[in-house]
Amino acid sequence: MIPVTQPFMPSKKEYEKLLENLWDTKWLTNNGPYVVELEKELSERLAVHNLTYVTNGTLALQLAIKALDLQGEIITTPFSFIATTTSITWEGCKPVFVDIDPTTLSIDPEKIETVVTTNTVAIIATHVFGIPCDVERIEAIANKYNLKVIYDGAHAFGVTYKGRSIFNYGDISTYSFHATKVFHTVEGGGITCANKNLATKIELLRSYGYVGEDYYLPGINAKATEFHAAMGICNLNYIEHNLEKRKEISEFYNKLLPSDIHVIYITENVEYNYAYYPVLFNSEDTLLKIVSELKSKEIQTRRYFYPSLNKLPYLKDNNDCPVSESISKRILCLPLYANLDKKIVKKISDIINSIIEEES
Ligand SMILES: *Cc1c(COP(=O)(O)O)cnc(C)c1O
Repeated sequence: MIPVTQPFMPSKKEYEKLLENLWDTKWLTNNGPYVVELEKELSERLAVHNLTYVTNGTLALQLAIKALDLQGEIITTPFSFIATTTSITWEGCKPVFVDIDPTTLSIDPEKIETVVTTNTVAIIATHVFGIPCDVERIEAIANKYNLKVIYDGAHAFGVTYKGRSIFNYGDISTYSFHATKVFHTVEGGGITCANKNLATKIELLRSYGYVGEDYYLPGINAKATEFHAAMGICNLNYIEHNLEKRKEISEFYNKLLPSDIHVIYITENVEYNYAYYPVLFNSEDTLLKIVSELKSKEIQTRRYFYPSLNKLPYLKDNNDCPVSESISKRILCLPLYANLDKKIVKKISDIINSIIEEES
């Protein structure tokens, strides 16, 4: 089976070498030396203000909401992974969906103002597939209505906009370092924010909200372990190589597949990370046919993202989001990972092309 994604594995020797130390020190968690080192290396590599490493990307979002003391309505995107929405409801806030822009696939700034009420406290947008949101217009709207902005940057590792890390925009940005992401620590997540006091508060919240014998806040346990941090330290040695391979594979798909099904459009001022390779078909029928044909050839694809989150069965009274609803029925992510063989890319593309031709 060709998987839709495959976690990158560093050299086993390299990882074991870092682990040996843990048998000596027995310092396995609680802000250990590998966690501290990974935070430092990541902040340098990404050129971000600070980075707090946590257990996963979902907790990163929840900590962001908690740290900003948000209560009320949060404007968000229906086209994202489910954790973007559930972190809002889990923190007792109400997600209010705004449709997406068909080009960036992220929240459409044009439509944000139509749903702002006196209960609106924040915007949580996703740089979906690593394509930057319209951060400037979102900032202008947030300033006008005094709203906080959180970016779910789970897909955006390494992405820059106008020469600056995309994680330096908004009040808080979050990362996921899950095994399926461009850079991973098996499980893991991170939080970046410009405000130093807020960063300190997030660090406190990550570790029950106390230091020594001083109890400041009701926190949670979102601490990452030394085993996970060590995986991150190893993987960081390969990140440039992996990004280069992803780029090569994505460009090969671009060459083989017709441009009217391409999805990722990157503007000049963006440095992109080739996190996913989505394609968009004319109809859900074509998509289903292609999924089933690829599956019969042992090739896995993923309907990323489907359904549109405003259609979740356990959330009621949501706004209609026709663009997101239509795109989520027709979009499909194809296999993409650093070690994917180009011959497979050719095979996948041939299958897709022949079905598209049949349909037309
Ligand atoms: C993966 C992902 C998350 C959640 O991250 P975890 O580390 O798996 O908890 C959140 N948002 C988006 C957009 C994601 O893709």
